[in-house]
Amino acid sequence: MINESLPKPQLAPRDKCTGCSACANGCPKRAIHMLPDREGFLYPTVTDACVACGHCTHICPVLKHREPRSAPAVFAVWNPDEAARRDSTSGGVFSLLAEGILESGGVVVGAAMDDSLHLRHIAVEKKEQLHSLRGAKYVQSEIGDIYRRVQMYLAENRQVLFSGTPCQVDGLYYFLGEHPENLLTCDLLCGGVPSPGVWEHMVDSIAYIKKKQPAAVNFRDKAYGWKEPHFSVTFADGSAFSAPLFKSEYGRGLSRSLFLRPACHSCQYTSTDRPGDVSLGDFWNLPKDFHPEEQKKGISLLLINTEKGAHAFDMLPVKKERRTLEEAVANPALRLPVDAPQERTAFFCTYAQQPFQTVRNRFLVPPQLSYQMSKQVRPGGKSRLAELLRRKKGKK
Ligand SMILES: Cc1cc2nc3c(=O)[nH]c(=O)nc-3n(C[C@H](O)[C@H](O)[C@H](O)COP(=O)(O)OP(=O)(O)OC[C@H]3O[C@@H](n4cnc5c(N)ncnc54)[C@H](O)[C@@H]3O)c2cc1C
Repeated sequence: MINESLPKPQLAPRDKCTGCSACANGCPKRAIHMLPDREGFLYPTVTDACVACGHCTHICPVLKHREPRSAPAVFAVWNPDEAARRDSTSGGVFSLLAEGILESGGVVVGAAMDDSLHLRHIAVEKKEQLHSLRGAKYVQSEIGDIYRRVQMYLAENRQVLFSGTPCQVDGLYYFLGEHPENLLTCDLLCGGVPSPGVWEHMVDSIAYIKKKQPAAVNFRDKAYGWKEPHFSVTFADGSAFSAPLFKSEYGRGLSRSLFLRPACHSCQYTSTDRPGDVSLGDFWNLPKDFHPEEQKKGISLLLINTEKGAHAFDMLPVKKERRTLEEAVANPALRLPVDAPQERTAFFCTYAQQPFQTVRNRFLVPPQLSYQMSKQVRPGGKSRLAELLRRKKGKK
């Protein structure tokens, strides 16, 4: 409830709000709570503790204009540490950057799954904890009060590396109101963040179908190589399940951009003008003869956006080769936001009104032979089935 006698703060409109949580972290009265909507995304809700000071609108990145930067330098990079790279999504470069900060007594902030596979931003102070930040998790991470904690670490004069989606990095800067010397930021190239609510239901659905509790997940497992990503789940009893990412139920939704945050479909960060000191993504379109063995293990696309970013990378034992901006922008995440698919509305209507198993069957399970077709198949056996499939194909 908002105090009726005071004017309501005009935060970013719903279709533009990235959920960065700068407003909730920055509110001096803690009057803004991030609450899930019917699609399962967190949005700011202003309570009646609001005194209409206007700070939240002042620090909302969506309502402000960021000064453009000059074009970044582009590199293809990878971590020579094979183990760290195997557990990372592309070249494992984030881990190298993070190790450097931890060795100097600093703090690394990034997204990690908790025991119930809920994704939130956490702070890590020891190398042994770094594994929890490794790897891209295809769900929107909850910021919680992490910006305030970053501010606290900076006040203690500690080095901080903050990594996240570009909207989260921008949100942190607007919350801080400055670019502190001790803060290094790494934004990820991002094709959009999926709904935490949908992810939560997906975890429950996997548990229901497999009759055991998922304990860990790798959204882009490289066990079969970087170019054949697998969606892998490890269960509490130690058993595991793995499927090619885009043949898994969750991956099918991802590949159709079915459950992304509305603001992702008009994202202002899908360009080479980035908020972070450095940006990391996947370098997909390298020439075939460019270190083919390394490409099998994953190569990161690195953009150096600031002098601080350049300095941080000069210090690292990283394998890197200069590439062109033209090659970089072949990555769609640097060019344009992904369109909302037509079926998005139907998906979320079903999600809001029906049990998740209905959502799953209607949108995520692979298309089966229709009931009619399967009835026709029975008398003729396999040859009849082959004939039916041929005819169906011919009709398309
Ligand atoms: C939701 C999402 C969408 C992405 N989309 C693209 C894309 O379209 N094109 C592309 O080239 N690259 C994309 N990436 C980035 C890419 O997959 C790698 O994360 C990046 O290249 C860094 O790889 P790495 O091997 O150096 O380190 P990794 O170890 O793979 O990266 C880990 C870092 O990512 C952070 N992180 C992981 N999940 C999240 C999350 N959900 N929210 C915020 N931070 C997170 C961790 O905190 C850590 O800092 C995406 C990443 C995410 C999280």
